[in-house]
Amino acid sequence: MANVVVIGAGLGGLPTAYELRHLLPSEHTVTLIAEHPQFTFIPGLIRVALDLEPIAHMQLPLAPLAKRHGLELVTSRVTHMDLQAQQITVADGRTIAYDYVAIATGPGLAFDQIPGFGPHGGYTHSVCNASHALEAREAWLAFLDDPGPLVVGAAPGAGCFGPAYEFALMADWILRRKGIRDRVPITMVTPEPYTGHLGVSGVKNAKELTQGLLQKQGIEAIDNAAITEITADQVILEDGRRIPQRYAMILPAFRGVQFIHQVPGLGNDKGFIPILPTHQHPQFPSVYALGVSVHLAQPDKTRVPIGMPKSGQMTEAMGMAVARNIAVALGAVAGSPQVPTLEAICFAEFGDTGILYVAAPVIPDPVTGQRRYSYAVQGPWVVWAKTAFERYFMVKMRAGSAMPWFERLGLRLLFGVDLVRPQPPVAPKEVASV
Ligand SMILES: Cc1cc2nc3c(=O)[nH]c(=O)nc-3n(C[C@H](O)[C@H](O)[C@H](O)COP(=O)(O)OP(=O)(O)OC[C@H]3O[C@@H](n4cnc5c(N)ncnc54)[C@H](O)[C@@H]3O)c2cc1C
Repeated sequence: MANVVVIGAGLGGLPTAYELRHLLPSEHTVTLIAEHPQFTFIPGLIRVALDLEPIAHMQLPLAPLAKRHGLELVTSRVTHMDLQAQQITVADGRTIAYDYVAIATGPGLAFDQIPGFGPHGGYTHSVCNASHALEAREAWLAFLDDPGPLVVGAAPGAGCFGPAYEFALMADWILRRKGIRDRVPITMVTPEPYTGHLGVSGVKNAKELTQGLLQKQGIEAIDNAAITEITADQVILEDGRRIPQRYAMILPAFRGVQFIHQVPGLGNDKGFIPILPTHQHPQFPSVYALGVSVHLAQPDKTRVPIGMPKSGQMTEAMGMAVARNIAVALGAVAGSPQVPTLEAICFAEFGDTGILYVAAPVIPDPVTGQRRYSYAVQGPWVVWAKTAFERYFMVKMRAGSAMPWFERLGLRLLFGVDLVRPQPPVAPKEVASV
């Protein structure tokens, strides 16, 4: 019978594989291809880098999970796809045939766009994957012994800004508790048109709350900033400003991972995968994509280019729609295809306080420019909620459960957010993102 393959066992891929297993009868195989033997909860990596939690709290071994929950696991990196033959090649040389594939490979990191950028031969640290977070942690511990200027921010083209704010404000909180904040000037450098934009314009209260917090904590913020070079002790901007740094954590622009660039027709010029509203590839009906790997256009025209954030919860919603749509295509589930609503909630942790950002949906209506609603609220409870959510997410990944009914109900009752809805009538060739 059918083999449905999920590539990538991250925040999108693992729940999608679980949901497929839940929806498909046992004669169909669900194969999960993972380049690393562990699942990593990426949002927890800031706490790892700042030495607040061990990496073990953010990881789960995939082999026992796959065995327990009925997934075929292939632990190797995908290096090639033959879209005509519907075949995937992995780094150890194996080939895997698929009837449907869901690509959830997350971001490729564009450190090569700026000289001196990134942890591999450059002068900045990163929290974008587990090995980066561990390297950042080693450097952070050395920095605490010999502190100096701290620069945190994002490069031109970045779309993921929340982690930069979290890193800057959590670092501030740690440095104050250690009594060394006066020795660490902190600068936030961002391509956003204003601090608190976070890639999503016009979220009610977001600008005021975020800027108020940075100001209160004495963090200098430079917006509309284009970093052009990084040296061992400076972050250099397009306008010639040179910001001293002894430690810098700068988020890169994202693009698709390597193999997507090499498969003709699979991705766009940045390696992001174009999708129909159902998250099916417009040219290759057996291919679906979700999470950071998909192309979502940034509706705002900004002076310095920025990307579109794809949060964990948006990614999960995409995964639920993809799993259902593949099950519908295989005739295993009755009903119409679904589309993710992209109504997003994001808990940002800032030490002893936090901000909850809600945008429903993230991309405003292209005709009216309006959302159903959006808001930001601040309070210490956001930190507790984020910690509780992290624990809950790891429990459900252990349990093999993607998005239980009570989570969907809770999101609707507490935040008015729905994850998926039936596909509205669309012209056959309409593309969600161009
Ligand atoms: C530091 C940080 C903090 C964040 N904090 C938050 C937050 O607080 N809240 C929130 O909602 N979102 C947050 N996000 C965003 C969130 O992490 C992403 O939305 C989410 O991880 C996207 O899921 P994904 O499955 O697309 O990618 P990932 O979770 O990155 O998973 C991709 C997986 O694919 C694997 N892979 C890649 N290439 C291959 C290949 N060739 N073969 C096989 N496997 C491959 C990778 O190893 C990885 O395991 C944060 C992001 C970062 C970087």
